[in-house]
Amino acid sequence: MNILVLNAGSSSLKFQVIATDLDRIRQDADERLCRGYVERIGGEAIVTIQTRNGPRQKVTAPVRNISAALDYVLRWLASEQSGVPEIRSLSDVHAVGHRVVHGGEVFRESAVITDDVLKGIEDCIDLAPLHNPNNVKGILAVRQAFGPGMPQVAVFDTAFHTSLPAHAYLYAVPYHLYARHRIRRYGFHGTSNRYVAYRYRTIRQLTKEQTNVITLHLGNGCSATAVRNGQSVDTSMGMTPLEGLVMGTRSGDLDPAILSLIATKEGLSPTEVESLLNTQCGLLGISGVTNDMRVLLQELKQHDDRRIRLAIEIFCYRARKYIGALLAGMGGADSVIFTGGIGENSPEIRARICESLGWAGLTIDADKNAQTMGKEACISTADSKLQAWVIPTDEELLIARDTVRCILGEPHPT
Ligand code: ADP
Repeated sequence: MNILVLNAGSSSLKFQVIATDLDRIRQDADERLCRGYVERIGGEAIVTIQTRNGPRQKVTAPVRNISAALDYVLRWLASEQSGVPEIRSLSDVHAVGHRVVHGGEVFRESAVITDDVLKGIEDCIDLAPLHNPNNVKGILAVRQAFGPGMPQVAVFDTAFHTSLPAHAYLYAVPYHLYARHRIRRYGFHGTSNRYVAYRYRTIRQLTKEQTNVITLHLGNGCSATAVRNGQSVDTSMGMTPLEGLVMGTRSGDLDPAILSLIATKEGLSPTEVESLLNTQCGLLGISGVTNDMRVLLQELKQHDDRRIRLAIEIFCYRARKYIGALLAGMGGADSVIFTGGIGENSPEIRARICESLGWAGLTIDADKNAQTMGKEACISTADSKLQAWVIPTDEELLIARDTVRCILGEPHPT
């Protein structure tokens, strides 16, 4: 089956086409036919497309909205010159899987999108006003382009964390605020966590129940999750993706009293303060230069800039502090897993995060760490009681696999 995987954002549409089915899943033989990205939707959009063997293509095109972006992608896919011979017409796309950010407390696993499921996703718009409306637009655009018969599946970022116990998901605010407004920790990056935990236990030949790890997803968004017996038992992101680690442009944890202080002193509304915390903070806010970790590391090599140095130090310290907190909370773990753009590609950041974790039994092997970029490997010394691993994430693959399993009614082994 050719599965179109979509991730619809406010001004972008990421897509991949993955050929997979139950046999291919069992044999780990799924095939990625193409991937691409439409950015700056709403004006002159930039479309980047990469096929299996072809060079990366980049074009600009006027694209009004998500529906127009999807139409553009589908027209390209079905065209002769796409370089994807498996897709000759739209009928060669067999199902569509969507990344959906928020599934609230209702969606504990991926779901075939019926009218009821769509209503459930819309009901979560209150919880994720920046994300879920775009996911809904993506689903409706598919219905429009392919007709109502196209099977669609929603894969939720929050689903993996619905196993959190109440002591981890409740905030210490009056309980009626949870009952009335569903204010609690939901956690995100769940599909990424589920994928790397699955790869880890496959590599180490463990059962799900034997999987006790802390996953550190360090990309533009960053989160840490405690996985005990294969299930998420605590995670750093909260009601929204703003809580927890220092991120590219998000603050992560801070004293909640600071919000009204910033509002008063800077003359900002609550929404404007939230936007500042989402877009002007983190690595960008501290360094004053960029949210891009790779650029910060390069700059620091060329000249010692105090604020860049601080941004990196604070980023690494917060991540290390969370490893300690989650180790205590989950009663110890066997491994720490690094993933996401920074986690997969930056030996330097991994080393800095893990320095002085000897007390917890973790010592990084400098050579293995330096040699590991964008590939699966153990990067700790042989005698480390707490191991460190790098496992590149692949959320799209898991979305494609869930799509197949959901429409065929197979249980989810991952
Ligand atoms: P997203 O969360 O948007 O999916 P990614 O997972 O791609 O983002 O992560 C993006 C981050 O990864 C950026 O900060 C980028 O600089 C960083 N990154 C990518 N490659 C490297 C590298 N070799 N060294 C350090 N940071 C890197």
